[in-house]
Amino acid sequence: MPKKPFVDFRDIRSRITMEQVLEHYGVLGTFKHSGHNLSGPCPIHKGTNPTQFRVETEKNIWHCFSECKHGGNVLDFICRMENLSIHDAAIKACEWFDIPLDEVKTSNGKTAEPDEHTPAPAVKPKAQSKPARKPEDNTPNPPLKFKLDKLQREHPYLTQERGLTLETIIDFGLGYFTGDKGLMVGRIVIPIHNAKGELVAYAGRWPGEPPEDTEKYKLPPKFNKLSEVFNLDRAIKESADEPLVIVEGFFSVIKLHQLGWHKVVALMGWFMSPTQEELIREHVKASHVIVMLDENEAGQEAREKIAGRLAKFAFVKVHVFDKPEMQPEHLSAEEAQRILGGTV
Ligand SMILES: [Zn+2]
Repeated sequence: MPKKPFVDFRDIRSRITMEQVLEHYGVLGTFKHSGHNLSGPCPIHKGTNPTQFRVETEKNIWHCFSECKHGGNVLDFICRMENLSIHDAAIKACEWFDIPLDEVKTSNGKTAEPDEHTPAPAVKPKAQSKPARKPEDNTPNPPLKFKLDKLQREHPYLTQERGLTLETIIDFGLGYFTGDKGLMVGRIVIPIHNAKGELVAYAGRWPGEPPEDTEKYKLPPKFNKLSEVFNLDRAIKESADEPLVIVEGFFSVIKLHQLGWHKVVALMGWFMSPTQEELIREHVKASHVIVMLDENEAGQEAREKIAGRLAKFAFVKVHVFDKPEMQPEHLSAEEAQRILGGTV
């Protein structure tokens, strides 16, 4: 028996999308969608030109037109990012995306030909294998069986950099994780609840500008953020007369909450999955929705699409900021009042 199993690269490739891999590296947000293409700065040579790296999402391939002058499939991409052999990259991909090795294992890379003397090996039917996490994936996240303690509430990143009060910090369960084990070590944790209010994951924000090769945000690899809408469990308890505000990020929700607007939810990015759309439709009986994404290229493009989809069941207003790079988090109480109305 080899130490590492032989795996079927083609099968693994078919289960993972380039979007998922970019998301895994925390860079999908820097990419712009247009049709079946994605373009953004090259994560391999860490370039900055937003058009140098292209992904054809239908073919699930990529190409860097700049320094790398190279392209390939998802596994080739992981190879280059991790500096691994294709085999090790494939094993790594299975770990990250929760693909059981049993399902993609081959014996010495050869296909065993069953003859009439030997019974055919029990092969799991293909239909049972776990598909890649595609935008339409609605795998629910099971509630967590633990709760993090060892949280430092009054961390300067929260109080000074983000301007949050202790009341808000406690209200959202935020804190700096001081434990020494796990994914969240050294990070600010943000509890994520499902629509029923059950804790399903923690997001970990690096407190400040992360060093190179460290992601700003970490999410558990098995967590499917496409199945959750941040703060929905609390927003649905607010009055039906109030508009529902949809933003991208955790801290925009938290900050607006602190300013007095409690009916705010975050998509955890600029992309709204069909499951998130359904959750919003099902749970928020609001006649009025305000889509307020970040004022950058991705947000500008995504907000129109999101508004179009939500307009099927709600009156939707898209908010356009007059300052580039503006995010709802940076609104003052007066500006929020002017845009969102209501009384504070
Ligand atoms: Zn490159």
